[in-house]
Amino acid sequence: AVHQPREDIDVPFHTTCQEPDVKAPRENAAFVMLARNEEVEKALRTIVSIEKHFNQWFHYPVVFLNDEEWDPEFIETMNETVSGGARFEVVPKEEWTFPEFINEDRAKQSIAEQGRKGILYAGMESYHHMCRFYSGKFYTLEALKPYQWYWRIEPDVEFYCSLTYDPFAEMAKREKVYGFTIALPEEPRTCPSLFRRIADWKEAHNFRTTELWKAMIAPSWVPWPFRSLWSWFSHRDRYGDGWNLCHYWSNFEIANLDFFRGRGYQDLFEHLDRSGGFYFERWGDAPVHSLAVAMLLDPHKVHHFEDIGYRHDWYYQCPANAPGGQLTESKNLGSPSPLVDRERTGGIGCRCECDGSRTRNYATYC
Ligand code: GDP
Ligand code: MN
Repeated sequence: AVHQPREDIDVPFHTTCQEPDVKAPRENAAFVMLARNEEVEKALRTIVSIEKHFNQWFHYPVVFLNDEEWDPEFIETMNETVSGGARFEVVPKEEWTFPEFINEDRAKQSIAEQGRKGILYAGMESYHHMCRFYSGKFYTLEALKPYQWYWRIEPDVEFYCSLTYDPFAEMAKREKVYGFTIALPEEPRTCPSLFRRIADWKEAHNFRTTELWKAMIAPSWVPWPFRSLWSWFSHRDRYGDGWNLCHYWSNFEIANLDFFRGRGYQDLFEHLDRSGGFYFERWGDAPVHSLAVAMLLDPHKVHHFEDIGYRHDWYYQCPANAPGGQLTESKNLGSPSPLVDRERTGGIGCRCECDGSRTRNYATYC
C-alpha cells in the first residue's frame, strides 16, 4: 500500500521523441564539470556523449572546474569539442581546504584512520575537500554567478538516448528545482552522524509548522502527495529518526542554483560544516543534497528524468523506450521509495542505445 505511483506529481516532460526546437529561448544555464587534468580522456568521452545526444542542438556552455591550474592540453581538447563554449575555472584555495575552525592535525589523523578502516575514498584528503566543495561552496562560486541552472556532469559518463527537449526550460516551466536519474543507498560507514545532524537542524528550525510539517510525521498510510519526501528517506518506526540511506546520485543533477544559494540550504550547510563531519567522517555531497531536498522542497519540485539513459561507473539507467519496450524489472533494496516507484510499459523519449528491455536496472532503486 505504500507504493504510490507518482503520476499525479511527476510525469515525464515529454513522452515522445521531439524535433529539437533549436530556436527556442535558452535558460541561464550551464553544464558544470569538476575534473583533474589527468582525466582529460574520460572527460572528453563525457563531452562527446552529451554533445551527441543533446548539446549539438542546444549549445549550452560548459564550465570546467579544477582545484589546480588547467593544462593547456585539457583546454584545447575541450575548446574543440564543446559546441556552446567552454570556460575553465580554478576553484579558489579557500573553498578547497580545511575551514579555519577545524583542527587540521586532528582532521588529517582522522582521515588516515578512516583510510585504514577501508572506508570508501575516506583516506584521501582531496576527496573530503571535494565533497565539502560540492556540498556547499560550489553554488556560490563567482564563476557560476551568471547562471541560474546547472547540469552536473563528470568524467566517464555516458548518455544513451537523445534528449530532444531542453530540460532547463521544462524544469523552469513546471517549477521543478531538482532533477535526478539514479537513486541508491549510501555506504553507511561514510556518514554515521549525518542524518542526526540534519534532523537536529530541522528540529531547531521547525520551519514547517503547518501542513507539510504534519505531513512529515504522518503515518505511512497517508497517501501521496500529502506526505513530504522526507518521510520516504526516513524509517517510519520513529518520527524521522532514522534514514534508509537512500540518496540521489549527485554525479548527475539538473537543478536550480537559487535553491542551493538560498538561506535555508546555506544555513544547513554551515551547520553541517561546523560539526566537522566532512573531515571526521566522509560525508558525501549526494546524501547532503538529497536530505536537504527532501526536507526543504515540496515533492512536486523534484523530477526523476526517467527518459535519460545514463551511466557512470557501474550504475546506469536505461529507459525502456524501444518500441514494445518494457520498463526493466526493479529490485527494491529495502524501504519503499517514491523515487522511481513505477511500472511503465511502452516508450518514453527517443530510442536509446542501451537495451532497456533486457537490462536490469537495479541502481535506480532503493
Ligand atoms: P566518485 O564519483 O564518488 O567515484 O568520485 P570521483 O572520483 O568521480 O569524483 C567526483 C568528481 O570530482 C569528479 O568529477 C572528479 O573529476 C572530481 N574530483 C575528485 N577529486 C578531485 C580533485 O582532487 N581535484 C579535482 N580537480 N577534481 C576532483
Ligand atoms: Mn564519479
